Amino acid sequence: MQGLTRRQVLAGLAIMPWLLPASVNASVGRARVVVVGGGFAGATAARYLKRQAPALEVVLVEPKSGFYTCPFSNHAVAGLRSVTTLRQDYRALQQQQVVHVRERALEIKLHEQQVVLQGGQHLRYDRLFLAPGIDMDWQAIEGYDQAAAELLPHAWQAGAQTRLLRRQLQAMDDGGLVIISVPDNPYRCPPGPYERASLIAHYLSQAKPRSKVLILDSKDAFSKQALFQQDWLTRHGERIEWVGRAGGGHVVRADAKRRELVCEFGQRQRAAVINLIPPQKAAVIAQRSGLVDASGWVPIRPATFQALHAATVYVAGDACIAAPMPKSAYSANAQAKVAVTALLADLAGLEPPAAAWRNTCYSLLAPGQAVSIAADYAVSAQRLIERPGSLTLSPLQAPAGLRAQEAALGEAWYQSICADTWGSWS
Ligand code: FAD
Repeated sequence: MQGLTRRQVLAGLAIMPWLLPASVNASVGRARVVVVGGGFAGATAARYLKRQAPALEVVLVEPKSGFYTCPFSNHAVAGLRSVTTLRQDYRALQQQQVVHVRERALEIKLHEQQVVLQGGQHLRYDRLFLAPGIDMDWQAIEGYDQAAAELLPHAWQAGAQTRLLRRQLQAMDDGGLVIISVPDNPYRCPPGPYERASLIAHYLSQAKPRSKVLILDSKDAFSKQALFQQDWLTRHGERIEWVGRAGGGHVVRADAKRRELVCEFGQRQRAAVINLIPPQKAAVIAQRSGLVDASGWVPIRPATFQALHAATVYVAGDACIAAPMPKSAYSANAQAKVAVTALLADLAGLEPPAAAWRNTCYSLLAPGQAVSIAADYAVSAQRLIERPGSLTLSPLQAPAGLRAQEAALGEAWYQSICADTWGSWS
């Protein structure tokens, strides 16, 4: 972990705003909090609710028995680790007396304070913690639906889609073209597509040296752009080409059977492998709850992460509107902790504490070489802001060893955040 102890890394994951007085645990009594979604935001919330208020009844509604993390899934796409190593499970949460209901939430009845499960049962709640992440916007690109995603994988939810993209890369001939189509903001993990391009190019350089990566982008600028582009040029030369929106990179139609994309200005592109990352929105359950606005995401009160239009519902992670915080696992984990303290204060009839957040995002450029971006966030005039002067980015001219050190820190971050989200207390 190169100079940082595990405790220090864990402490850096989120700025815990407040420690609850012991009396709060007593005063929340046996209220029931239902958490929908057991990903980075939901599992963190369930774990910290139980930690801060053991008497609380915490019910986690999550259909899966195991969760595959998107962080580090680009490593698996490039064959640097197996998909199996991304899997987390809910055993430690269950041991902490979180009740795991393995069902999908179908509907939220806001007035009755109930979650309707796929099996038909109604779960009453005193407070709801909504953390269902994203769904693809299947209406956004003509011809791209769930069936098409089996031929042109998005691999933007980890697991089967990650494996599919990996298999397609392995099966393609040397000399074949790989296209990565990237949506406009906001979407899950702003630097993720460019990390993927770096790592796929690394794989091609080893296994299919005549092949190339073409990035078709629906924007003209992207996260860590100068760092990525500098690295692509020096490491890969012409192996990676990026076409922004002004250059015609915005994809509007897909023909999955022909492996062909049509861009905004009419250009057609065929490829051996197409990784089509479509626009996204808050997951279906959030859409059905009536809590989303016209953007497709859930507006929140930034100081508490309560849904803007339902005071008994807290929303954290990718599903909510927390810009300028990026939609990231780090953000989801940090937001969940702040929302948990606000929720417990609310149950205890106390004022929520002042909150602050941090996000750091590491991107691997090649094995053992990474760059990062980090910033602090706070509430000002009832809006989330990036703290002036807090943004840090890896330097373009890096001293020897820095990229390797950042790769080691990224690895330590991944181990720590998974332990902090799904791990046991001991
Ligand atoms: P999720 O983690 O997706 O969890 C949502 C959960 O809700 C899922 O388990 C789902 O099954 C469940 N759910 C959905 N609907 C229902 C329902 N109706 N009922 C019950 N449960 C439901 N972030 C970083 O910080 N660092 C990184 O390095 C990084 N790398 C990434 C790389 C890639 C390729 C991608 C795609 C993303 C990356 N991210 C990274 C972003 C990160 O994965 C997301 O921001 C994070 O997962 C968001 O957490 P969440 O809890 O909101 O959603």
